[in-house]
Amino acid sequence: NGGAAAPHVGLLPMPGTGHLIPFGELAKILVSRHGFSVTIITLAASASKAQDAVLSSLPPAIASLALPAVPLDDLPADAHLVTILAVAASRSAHFLRTELSRLQASSNLVAIVGDIFTTDAFAVARGLGVPPYLFFPSNLLCLSIFLHLPELDASVACEYRDLPEPLRLPGCVPVPGPELVEPIQDRSNEAYRWMLHHGRQYRDAEGIIVNTFEALEPDAAKVLRQNEPGRPPVYLVGPLTRTLPAVGEKDAECLRWLDRQPAGSVLFVSFGSAGTLSTAQMAELALGLEMSRERFLWVVRSPNDDGDVCEAYFTAQSKADPFRFLPAGFVERTSEVGMLVPSWAPQVAVLGHSATGGFLSHCGWNSTMESVMAGVAILAWPLFAEQRQNAVMLAEGARIALRPQAAEGGLVSREEVARVVKELMEGEEGKAARRRVLELQEAALRGLEDGGAAVQALDEVAGRWKPTN
Ligand code: UDP
Repeated sequence: NGGAAAPHVGLLPMPGTGHLIPFGELAKILVSRHGFSVTIITLAASASKAQDAVLSSLPPAIASLALPAVPLDDLPADAHLVTILAVAASRSAHFLRTELSRLQASSNLVAIVGDIFTTDAFAVARGLGVPPYLFFPSNLLCLSIFLHLPELDASVACEYRDLPEPLRLPGCVPVPGPELVEPIQDRSNEAYRWMLHHGRQYRDAEGIIVNTFEALEPDAAKVLRQNEPGRPPVYLVGPLTRTLPAVGEKDAECLRWLDRQPAGSVLFVSFGSAGTLSTAQMAELALGLEMSRERFLWVVRSPNDDGDVCEAYFTAQSKADPFRFLPAGFVERTSEVGMLVPSWAPQVAVLGHSATGGFLSHCGWNSTMESVMAGVAILAWPLFAEQRQNAVMLAEGARIALRPQAAEGGLVSREEVARVVKELMEGEEGKAARRRVLELQEAALRGLEDGGAAVQALDEVAGRWKPTN
């Protein structure tokens, strides 16, 4: 064991671009500011071009290794994404033990940092005498749900979607039952068991590091930053976002197109690395954008009609040419004001471009943090995971987002799309959201300055990991 060597940290992100990106940012700071060395250990299920691209864009001081594949073919065809991810993580635990022992033998391993569903690693870490930490790449509302889930499970008799009153957790915006994090919505589903299992294990961490900041969720921050017996200390280190576009993204054609648009005039439309719409919803969105007469830059993915709203989770790619699913004539009719990009756009660069004036977003947490860092107000279009409750928090708590009203059956009509797009880009509500997001942007930037709250919080964690002798 190399006692004099740089302290080494093992990071265990879940598969998914939205997990690898914030873990990569955390790794970069641990290396550059704290002089740690870092290994990112991924599950085999991470292997995809998009995810490899994230890992290979990291500086060479950050090593990565993939655990061997585990069989998942016994899972039912309709297994929930959470179940697939959690089972993959759980079955990888013995490979993890081998790799961590190896790391411990060859480096000065000081901490293991798990993700939302890789908390089975905590017991492995403890077995090796290494302290386990959780890096939670979402917000305090979502963390609160996980932490309170065991007691909710005991006290709530019905499905959460049938709760007569919005759920009020300490410091959090009240969330109506149907808007709560999606995998708890069917308590007979295996996915719910896994949520509960990991929520319980969060309390076994030595500390919980969260990718958010106080000004965004001030009341929840007050509650969670107080020490509470039986709950690990919570450190707010966000926003950790990519500041530069990835290699090759700088020259993207859509950025040149933005160069030719007036300042603040373009609505960026994107559903993260995985989100897909139904064919009917895609048509309403297209026709609504057209009706709004606003400029837009839309990252288009092929629709999915079997209810799978995160079909591209493992690939981030469209399965077919997505443009052919757009309404007839739409591309031609909007060619003066619209730019379409298949599957993937350099989002950080787009949001930071002066022509971008609004973001129609699925409210994934990285996208949200990136929007705040760019000072861009949001049109909330949640699809899966915790995105609905994020939308509630962003609209009613932080007040940086507008929400379209869905008709019965869940479809947002073209008229509603046009109305809310116009309101965001030119209306009073849009102006108010923009004022607020600029305030939050300033607060976020202050926290990231030397001596700022986010930097101090991560300094404190790193300090606990550094050997004292
Ligand atoms: N992203 C991107 N271009 C795209 C789609 C996504 O660069 O076309 C990035 C985005 O900037 C963010 C991440 O992928 O950093 C998506 O994470 P988020 O938490 O928003 O959503 P998820 O993909 O996990 O649903």
